[in-house]
Amino acid sequence: HSAITINNVTKRFDDFIALKKICLEVKKGELVCFLGPSGCGKTTLLRIIAGLEECDDGEIIQHGKVITHLPPSKRDYGIVFQSYALFPNLTVAKNIAYGLKKKDFEKKEAKKRVKELLALVGLSGSEEKYPSELSGGQQQRVAFARAIATNPALLLLDEPLSALDARVRERLRQEIRELQKNLGITTIMVTHDQEEALSIADKIVVMNQGVIEQVGTPLEIYHQPKSLFVADFVGKINLLKAFYSRNGYFQVGQLRFKVALQAKNEPQAEEAIKLLIRPEDIKLYDDTRNDEGNILEGDVLKVTFLGSFCRVLMRIRGLLEDTLLLDLPHKALVKGVIQEGSFLKLCIASGD
Ligand code: ADP
Ligand code: MG
Repeated sequence: HSAITINNVTKRFDDFIALKKICLEVKKGELVCFLGPSGCGKTTLLRIIAGLEECDDGEIIQHGKVITHLPPSKRDYGIVFQSYALFPNLTVAKNIAYGLKKKDFEKKEAKKRVKELLALVGLSGSEEKYPSELSGGQQQRVAFARAIATNPALLLLDEPLSALDARVRERLRQEIRELQKNLGITTIMVTHDQEEALSIADKIVVMNQGVIEQVGTPLEIYHQPKSLFVADFVGKINLLKAFYSRNGYFQVGQLRFKVALQAKNEPQAEEAIKLLIRPEDIKLYDDTRNDEGNILEGDVLKVTFLGSFCRVLMRIRGLLEDTLLLDLPHKALVKGVIQEGSFLKLCIASGD
């Protein structure tokens, strides 16, 4: 059952095309992330869904009803922005009750609802505080409570966590996800943070320059990127220029690799293709493991310690133009196997 359907939505600002024929379906209860670099059109699309911006072409349907030209007040959603956007001169309770007043909640009922909402976002007892007395994370919790106060069918979030520091951001991210699941509220969240999208979305919509590059689950987006842009934007990737030999073998420089094919059709013999390899799919060669094929040798150019793993930049022998990034367990670093200038023998998983 579709909660929101977007049909061929196009948006221009003068002669700049911000969105090109966007088509998308959001199912009831889903958490969907719009993910893409700054300026790709995420906020514009969210604002069109909210009725804060008019599209030039196409239509928006919510629960079977065309809402394309309805004013925001006639639409059924709650929204949270990056900047907390709370009224500074109103208490927390009044901020949250603001939307309730518009929907004609009885005063007594509103008070009960505010209490309930504050408990829901972990801020019980903060009714009489002012926004300036709260931390950024707490203010965003209040903004969240205000957005869901009237039980809207749709929750719109525009980079709600971007202004918060890393620890608060990560915690709030999980809290929002849990709340969203418990309430079963259909949610669209804009983010430019791939980790955020991968960790909480049911479905990710990857956008680039006003178009949708791919829609898929986090696993699909990461493991089966449909374009170079998606592969490169979500996670780290090594891109090697290769030629297809046959039977799944690729010629890369002077090396031969066997890799499972992602494309549906087998390439032509000698066809130039791009081989994409995730850094974590390259491992240290282990002769006790009987690793077959896909063996590489090279010299370490740079090692970056990243906590649970280390990222290693290598010059590979037999590959003149390309360097490779690989992620190795930091154990190897600790043992001193890897340092700048070390020679390593590696192996690439064949993908099956
Ligand atoms: P994102 O949220 O992905 O960073 P936006 O949707 O805010 O991107 O903007 C998409 C593009 O549209 C950007 O190039 C931006 O400069 C442009 N844009 C957005 N709003 C306006 C506006 N009101 N007038 C002119 N250009 C705009
Ligand atoms: Mg934006």
